[in-house]
Amino acid sequence: MNGNKTNAYDVMQICLNGHCMTEHYYSKPYSRKEYCSKCAKKTIIQCPHCKNEIKGNYIVPESISIPSVVVPVICEYCGHPFPWNKEKKEIFNERKQNVDNISLINKICERFPLVVKQLQKRHENRPNFKIDDEYDVQDLFHSLLILFFNDIRVEEPIPSYAGSSKRADFLLKDEQIIIEIKKTRANLKNKQLGDQLIIDIANYKNHPDCKIIYCFVYAPDKYITNPQGLEKDLSKDENIEVIVKIVS
Ligand SMILES: [Zn+2]
Ligand SMILES: [Zn+2]
Repeated sequence: MNGNKTNAYDVMQICLNGHCMTEHYYSKPYSRKEYCSKCAKKTIIQCPHCKNEIKGNYIVPESISIPSVVVPVICEYCGHPFPWNKEKKEIFNERKQNVDNISLINKICERFPLVVKQLQKRHENRPNFKIDDEYDVQDLFHSLLILFFNDIRVEEPIPSYAGSSKRADFLLKDEQIIIEIKKTRANLKNKQLGDQLIIDIANYKNHPDCKIIYCFVYAPDKYITNPQGLEKDLSKDENIEVIVKIVS
C-alpha cells in the first residue's frame, strides 16, 4: 500500500508552505488535496530531494483517535530541509557552499606539488619556473585560485589586534575565506611554523569578512615531522573554522 519503510505508518501530504493536508494519505484517500486549501500551494508526499515518502501517522482503524504528528522540517532519510523550512534551507545551502569551496581549495593544495613538478619540465632549454620561496608559492597559488574564484583580495589588511597590524595573503571576498600561505624553510619548521600560524589565526579572525581561515603549508623539504598532529592542533579554534593543510 505505501512505499515507506514500515507498514505501521501512513504518509503525510504537505503543501509547499508547510500546511498539513493529511497524515493518512493512503488509509484515508478522501483527505488528499492536490492544492492547499489555505494557501493554494501545490502539495507533496515525498521529499523533493531523495523521493522518500514523508512519514505520516500510525495506521489505525478510523474509530481510534490518535494525536496528530508534527510536520517535519527536514527529511529523516536524507537530511535535506523541506521547502517550507526556509531558514534551515539557507543554513543548509550555506554550509554546503562552504564545503564545496573548501574542497576546491583542498584540491589546489593537494595537487600543488604536482603542479610545481610539472612546471620544471619545459620545452627544450627554456628556463624553469622556479618555486623557491614563499612568494613563489603565493604567486603560483594565486594563479590557481583564479581557476575557481573571482574576487581574490591580495595582502588584505587585518584590523589591528593587540597592537600588531597584519595582512592576510588572500581574502576570497565572496566566500569569506582568508587563505594564509607558508613555505617551510630551515628557520621555519615545526615550532616556529606553529607559533606563526597561531598568531595569524588570532589576527585574522577579527576580520569582518572572515568566516573560515585556511592555512596552506607547502613543505617540500619535509621539515614538518608530524604534519597530521600540527594540522589537528592548529585547527582547534572554538570561534571560527580553521583548516590547516600541510603538503610536501
Ligand atoms: Zn498551504
Ligand atoms: Zn529526503
